[in-house]
Amino acid sequence: MNNGLNTLTIRESLEGLRNKEFSSVELTRACLDQIKKYNSDINAFLTINERAINEARRADEARENGSDSPLLGIPIALKDMFLTKGLRTTAASHVLENYIPQYDSTVVQKLKDAGAIILGKTNHDAWAHGSSGENSDFGPTKNPWNKEYVPGGSSSGSAASVAADMTIASTGTDTGGSIRLPASFTNTVGLKPTYGLVSRYGIIAMASSLDSIGHFTKTVEDSAIFLNVTAGNDPMDATTTKNKIPNHLEDLDKGVKGFKIGVPKEYFTQGLDSNIKKNIEGAIKKFEELGAEIIEISLPHTEYGIACYYIIQPSEVSSNLARYDGIRYGNDRTRFGDEAVRRIILGTFTLSSGYYEAYYKKAMQARTLIRQDFEEAFKKVDAIISPVSPTPPWELGEKVDDPLKMYLSDVYTVIANLAGIPGLAVPSGFIGDLPTGFQILGPQFSEKLLFRIGHAFEQTQERKVLEK
Ligand code: GLN
Repeated sequence: MNNGLNTLTIRESLEGLRNKEFSSVELTRACLDQIKKYNSDINAFLTINERAINEARRADEARENGSDSPLLGIPIALKDMFLTKGLRTTAASHVLENYIPQYDSTVVQKLKDAGAIILGKTNHDAWAHGSSGENSDFGPTKNPWNKEYVPGGSSSGSAASVAADMTIASTGTDTGGSIRLPASFTNTVGLKPTYGLVSRYGIIAMASSLDSIGHFTKTVEDSAIFLNVTAGNDPMDATTTKNKIPNHLEDLDKGVKGFKIGVPKEYFTQGLDSNIKKNIEGAIKKFEELGAEIIEISLPHTEYGIACYYIIQPSEVSSNLARYDGIRYGNDRTRFGDEAVRRIILGTFTLSSGYYEAYYKKAMQARTLIRQDFEEAFKKVDAIISPVSPTPPWELGEKVDDPLKMYLSDVYTVIANLAGIPGLAVPSGFIGDLPTGFQILGPQFSEKLLFRIGHAFEQTQERKVLEK
């Protein structure tokens, strides 16, 4: 019988560990037991870290000796895009199915330095290409709330593992929505930080000008605790900020009274599912009750978002995937799955001589306009509330043969990546038995503000825990 410790949040776990109510070994074992029980069904983990219990034991010893580093003894899971020294890292692709990295990515190093215990590596769409998790070369992850449905992607296993209490928190990558979308499909909190706030070093690159490194947690507060560990300059990633990093927990409880929250009129048109619309309208009303001022705004270039993203992203993908030549690491290129091949072909085409100007350059110009839309909007409002996905989670298999349909599910998420701004996906209830959520978008480096807004909303909700 599981002791239930795996259902705790980071905050609760830290309290219990500090008060000696339980040990990290017990906490880690509870997560591993839950993984053992449900993973064959949900397929959230690709690799389990056999050393996890030993690491937990060391964390307990460190605590005995007076250490209290910010994640000491907290079990976490890593999307299998994060290089882990000595632990298989596959990008959920057969190309890298036997790849054992020689070093840790910066974020993994920071998490380890903060005392976190690595439980294992989670499943996702191969190379992070997808919105449902079904492009994984190792089979799809299932939505723990209803196993006939997708958990969202690409970070499907990271989201599902937090939702199913197999871990206390997990990491993800968000290039066009891959953290926020699965978060909103699984009743978890997902943060896509500002581009350049968290180091990309040692994380398998998808599209380098869009890739943002974030995480999944059970609460907004946990998301802030996690970001306090991962954010900051890294000499190994020249795009990381040199800004001083604030304490993201500060002001968390201060509420949203007097805040101006924008609602983009372009986001609430025909394409949006009526139940999701109703749900977000409910959230908007909550914000009004909490004292925020709701202001209608316009993001006029929204309609170019998907077209622009699906040119820039495959262009960068085709370049990044060129290194997997089967000589330096991994299997040869015949092992790429259909979606990776599709993007390599698309990107090679949009970058080719004669077409570069017509596609890539145009897309870059549109990207600037999209960024300027947000700059204008943030002169009028502090933050923006937006849907995450235009539809609730769909059934497994429903969109796998229609890539275009799959791409359209990213309509509300890709724009934050194009603009380089942060987005926090917050759960906002259920449609039938499946979760839904909204996202809060803010200016670059406004994560502290997003946490404050998300936390205020979260206090009005009851946290629903999956019954097992
Ligand atoms: N769904 C988007 C895509 O397929 C986003 C992926 C991501 O954020 N990694 O490209």
